[in-house]
Amino acid sequence: MTTTVVIGGSFAGMTAALEIKRKGKDQHKVILIDKSPVFMFIPSLIWVPFGRRDIKDISFRKDAILTKKGVEFVNAEALNVDVKNQTVKTDKGDYKYDHLVVATGPKVKYDVAPGVAEYTHYIGTPNGAMKTRKALEEFKKNPGPIVIGATQNAGCMGAAYEFLFNVEKWLREQNIRKKVDLYWITPEDYLGHFGIDGMPMAEGMLKSFMKMFNIHYKTQVGVEEVTPETIKLTNGEILPYKFSMLMPPFIGVDFVSNSPELHATPTGYVPVKDSYQHVDYPNVWAAGIAVNVPLPFTPGKVPFASPKTGYPSDETGKIVAENIIRVTKGETKLKEKAWGRIPGLCVMDAGKKEVLLVSSSLFKPRTFAIMIPNVIYDINKVILEKYFLWKSRNGYSNLP
Ligand SMILES: Cc1cc2nc3c(=O)[nH]c(=O)nc-3n(C[C@H](O)[C@H](O)[C@H](O)COP(=O)(O)OP(=O)(O)OC[C@H]3O[C@@H](n4cnc5c(N)ncnc54)[C@H](O)[C@@H]3O)c2cc1C
Repeated sequence: MTTTVVIGGSFAGMTAALEIKRKGKDQHKVILIDKSPVFMFIPSLIWVPFGRRDIKDISFRKDAILTKKGVEFVNAEALNVDVKNQTVKTDKGDYKYDHLVVATGPKVKYDVAPGVAEYTHYIGTPNGAMKTRKALEEFKKNPGPIVIGATQNAGCMGAAYEFLFNVEKWLREQNIRKKVDLYWITPEDYLGHFGIDGMPMAEGMLKSFMKMFNIHYKTQVGVEEVTPETIKLTNGEILPYKFSMLMPPFIGVDFVSNSPELHATPTGYVPVKDSYQHVDYPNVWAAGIAVNVPLPFTPGKVPFASPKTGYPSDETGKIVAENIIRVTKGETKLKEKAWGRIPGLCVMDAGKKEVLLVSSSLFKPRTFAIMIPNVIYDINKVILEKYFLWKSRNGYSNLP
C-alpha cells in the first residue's frame, strides 16, 4: 500500500487526490489535508459583489464526496514538511507519506504597496467579495471616481478586467454611470497582454471596449501608495477615488516558505520538472498555482507575472496523479507537459457579455489562438460554472 498525502483540495489538489484513488484503487491510500472543508468555485467570486451570486451558490462541503470516493479528508492546516523523514506537520498532528503533493495555491501579497491592504478591495476571497458588495452599496449613495486594476507583480489580471466590466455594467444599472470617472490601471505592457504576451486581436478588442464604455486606462503603471482618497501611481500620477479594487500579486503560501527543504523560489513556488515531480525529490510533486512557472516574456517598465488559471491547475493535478501511479508501478517513463504547453481555455466575463479565449498552448509559440466575443449574454461563463460545480460535487475528476 502506497500512502500519498495531498495538501490543498481545490482545482489541483482535489483532482489529484481523486484521480490517484480512482486509478490506484486499494493499492493506494490517499490523505487530503485542507484547512477548509469547503470547495469554492473561485472564478464566480467576481459576481458576488453585485449580488448575482451568493457564496452558498458557488461552494459546497467537499469532505462528503472525498470520503465517498475513498479519500481520507483531514481538516487541518499543514505547517511544514520534513522531507527527509517524509512527514507533514499540521496543527492537528503529523502525517507520514510515501508521496507528497503540494497543491496549496497562492497567498495574496496585500502589502505590495502602503495602503493597498487598508483602503482597496480584493474580490478573490469570499470575505473580500462580500466586503466589496457592502462597499458598493455605500458607494451608490455618494458616487465618485473608481479605480480598478492590478498592481505591480500581479499575474491574475483577467479577473480584474472581468470585475472592471461588471462594475461598468452595474453603474449603468444603478443609473449612476454619468457620475463616475472609471479608471483601469495595469502593469501590463499593453491592454490584453494578460501575462501571456497577448492573444490575436486582444489589444484592439480591449481598446475598443475601453472606448465604448468610456473607461480611462493606464498601462505600464504600478501602485506606489494608497491613501483614503488617492492612489499614487509609479509614474507620479495621483488618481482620486471613492472606491477601488486592486489585484495584488500572488506568492507561495506559508507552508511552502516554512519548509526550507522544498527549495522554493524567492516567491514561494515549488520548482518542478515537466512531469510536476520536484527537481530534487522523486516522491514530492506540485500541482496548480503552487508550481513555479518561469515567465515566458520579459516585462517592460513595470514587472508583472503570468496567470495560473483553473484549467492548467486541474490538468497538472491529473498529470501528478498519473505519474504517481506510474512510479509506484515501477515505470520510469513519466507523463510530461510543461505548464506553458497546456492548451489555453478561458472565458472572460465582460458584464453579461463575454470573450472566449482558446489557444493550442497557454504560452507562445502557439499554432492556434482565437478570441471570440459574445455580446449577447455570458452564457458560456455560466455553463462553465454549472459544469465545474456539478463535476466537482460528484467527484468526476476524470472529466476535463
Ligand atoms: C477572483 C479570481 C477569479 C478567477 N477567475 C478565473 C477564471 O475565470 N478562469 C480560470 O481558469 N481561473 C480563474 N482564476 C484562477 C483559479 O481560481 C485558480 O487557477 C485555481 O483556484 C487554482 O487552483 P489551486 O488548486 O492551485 O489553488 P487554490 O484554488 O487556491 O486552492 C488551494 C487550496 O489549498 C488549501 N491550503 C492552502 N494552504 C494550506 C495549508 N497550509 N494547509 C492546508 N490547506 C491549505 C486552501 O484552503 C485551498 O483549498 C481566478 C482567480 C481569482 C482569484
